[in-house]
Amino acid sequence: MGRCICVIAEFRGGSFRRVSYEVASEGRRIADALGAGLCAVAVGSGIGEKAADLGRYGVDRVYVADDPGLECYLAETYVPVVAGIVEKCDPVAVLLPASVDGKDLTSRLAPRLHTTSAQDCTEVSCEDGTIRIKRPIFAGKAFAWCQWEEGALPVISCRPNVMDCIASIAWKHAEVEPVEVALPEIRSRVVGMELDTSGKVELTEASIIVSGGRGMKGPENFGILEELAEALGAAVGASRAAVDSGWRPHSDQVGQTGKVVSPTLYIAAGISGAIQHLAGMGSSKFIVAINKDPDAPIFKKADFGVVEDLFKFIPEFTEEIKKLKGECA
Ligand SMILES: Cc1cc2nc3c(=O)[nH]c(=O)nc-3n(C[C@H](O)[C@H](O)[C@H](O)COP(=O)(O)OP(=O)(O)OC[C@H]3O[C@@H](n4cnc5c(N)ncnc54)[C@H](O)[C@@H]3O)c2cc1C
Repeated sequence: MGRCICVIAEFRGGSFRRVSYEVASEGRRIADALGAGLCAVAVGSGIGEKAADLGRYGVDRVYVADDPGLECYLAETYVPVVAGIVEKCDPVAVLLPASVDGKDLTSRLAPRLHTTSAQDCTEVSCEDGTIRIKRPIFAGKAFAWCQWEEGALPVISCRPNVMDCIASIAWKHAEVEPVEVALPEIRSRVVGMELDTSGKVELTEASIIVSGGRGMKGPENFGILEELAEALGAAVGASRAAVDSGWRPHSDQVGQTGKVVSPTLYIAAGISGAIQHLAGMGSSKFIVAINKDPDAPIFKKADFGVVEDLFKFIPEFTEEIKKLKGECA
């Protein structure tokens, strides 16, 4: 298809993850700036007709590797399959989601393509035909701008929830090209998956997160955060102090050694704002902090601060939200 940008779409549990659409939208923007096309690689099982949906996010052509052996992400199968398709497309840049699997794939794909990668980027720009990225470093205390030497292929993973997801009915369905898959002989296989069937919003994809820290005092008190989260349609997160105390599962932990999230609204209740926590939520669009200590470091990062006992504030806040929702209904 000539000069193109290539995006790797993540297909899980029968559908594309939202971050795939964000990466496709970003790919379209960069492709337009370069006067290039946009192709996508979709790898998984049972993708079928759904591949064409990527066209709504600006993709011109989707290469589909559809095989039951590709249902779950395994580096041994995904890396050669994706690398083979990317080499065939010969793109000027490759964009992937910076999800758990996406980051793993990024770091393995780049050496396979004899190039280097930049992980967890929050901005991709194109100036005078050169692609540059911005990524947080030192646990979010600073940002690095990087670009590749001329002729080198940028492999870029994009942080979920940061880039705009732009769908347009004006864009046609993408052209779909099935790819013959010859799976390599592998030494490992997925023997089972335990999926969270609670129906909770996944933290990394949530647009609102309500998080609790040591200030919650105990696991039983997270009920007030869950009630607020339900009223707001939010996911519940936690600081490491709350997780280490056994009050919340590790999958709820936000921060350097937990999940990196970028919701539109992050509400931190009883969280002091340690650098390791900020590393996981500092790129949220709006941060609201509720803490009874006016000198808590979280207030330096917060857009709105509430100096108050959370056990008094949260239930009243939830009531007000419910009232507002009732009035709007
Ligand atoms: C290598 C490393 C990695 C780490 N990774 C992470 C990570 O991924 N995520 C993470 O979160 N931390 C991480 N940490 C730990 C981090 O340094 C902090 O210890 C932790 O974030 C503190 O959690 P906290 O804010 O809940 O608790 P605290 O720092 O104890 O803060 C509790 C806050 O609650 C407030 N409070 C208490 N009672 C109330 C009340 N009734 N109403 C309102 N406010 C109240 C207090 O004023 C205080 O500010 C890491 C540390 C290290 C060394």
